[in-house]
Amino acid sequence: MRNSVNRQVRMAARPVGAPKDSDFRLVESEMPVPGADEMLVRVIYLSLDPYFRGRMNDGPSYAAPMQIDDVMIGRTVSQVVESNLDGFAPGDFVFCDPVGWQEYGIVRGDALGLRKLDPAIAPISTALGVLGMPGFTAWYGLLELGKPKPGETVVVSAAAGAVGSLVGQIAKIKGARAVGIAGAQEKCDFVVRELGFDACVSHHSDTLLADLKAECPKGIDVYFENVGGKVFDAVFPQMTLFSRLVLCGQISQYNATSRPEGPGASLIMGLIGRRMTASGFVIGDHRDRFDEFQNEVAGWIRAGQVRFREDIADGLENAVGAFQGLLEGRNFGKQLVQIGDDPTR
Ligand code: NDP
Repeated sequence: MRNSVNRQVRMAARPVGAPKDSDFRLVESEMPVPGADEMLVRVIYLSLDPYFRGRMNDGPSYAAPMQIDDVMIGRTVSQVVESNLDGFAPGDFVFCDPVGWQEYGIVRGDALGLRKLDPAIAPISTALGVLGMPGFTAWYGLLELGKPKPGETVVVSAAAGAVGSLVGQIAKIKGARAVGIAGAQEKCDFVVRELGFDACVSHHSDTLLADLKAECPKGIDVYFENVGGKVFDAVFPQMTLFSRLVLCGQISQYNATSRPEGPGASLIMGLIGRRMTASGFVIGDHRDRFDEFQNEVAGWIRAGQVRFREDIADGLENAVGAFQGLLEGRNFGKQLVQIGDDPTR
């Protein structure tokens, strides 16, 4: 027998600063019924991503803001319960973009990124992490924009996280030296011992700039920027002539209530003086490269050249805490929430 209620997490208020529990609301709503060319899915894994924080604001961005009382957005891996959609049958595992923070959802045939998942090829959860959007971001950003050459030094921040952990491993595969920046010592140890980075320094250190200098004696040729703030300030002066700056994210600023002061004049002069290339990107613009990414990274995983770590919170009622933790560095690896039973594990 099917459930008659569907639990959802909705946005109750726009956060000011760090999101509070009261900015979210756990509600029970009626179980949705699929119409023509639609299917009902049961969510197994929900991906939590830093970009949700920007979508909770009302300001201009590259994507439309969420509205109060909207179900929180989020990519999911689900199982089909009922299908009126050709090519999809009950029991199939599917990835798609717009289901969000809820136990069940309706998926239309034209849903963004909709595809079936084969658990025999890779654990289904990886469609949200190393073989999904975060992995794609690392692969595209580093190879297309960072263009690391053998012997060069690549530095990546949030190095133990979903994007950063793959950036450093790809840098190594390409023959570069990989240096991570992460928070806790446990994360730094993981990055070096488990993922094979050459070094990792902690941004909690009072001597971050000197620590980085010691690990990057010839300077930094590629910086993959995920964090901003004081981490960026420590990296930037150490970048070499003709170096590449890959501007992926600025998580230290996502809860900020005001912009950092100053026009960035010194930054621009620094870019010119070092003939640097700085490239901002949003991975959603490059969907045409997704299959190429998946084939290459899946091959590296099979060959044992890429490892990944997931941090799985248990149950929809723990999604808010896990999201708050992601913005504070409490996650250790790709942050997921397990909402329903995973019959493949
Ligand atoms: P992670 O799995 O890396 O988790 C976020 C990590 O950020 C935390 O674990 C923490 O690591 C670090 N962090 C949080 N707050 C701070 C802070 N104040 N100072 C320093 N570090 C902090 O997340 P993702 O891999 O999903 O995302 C990484 C970055 O990539 C984000 O900036 C995200 O917005 C960006 N991104 C951009 C995309 C694009 O298309 N441009 C697409 C996908 C992601 P620690 O404990 O080590 O400090």
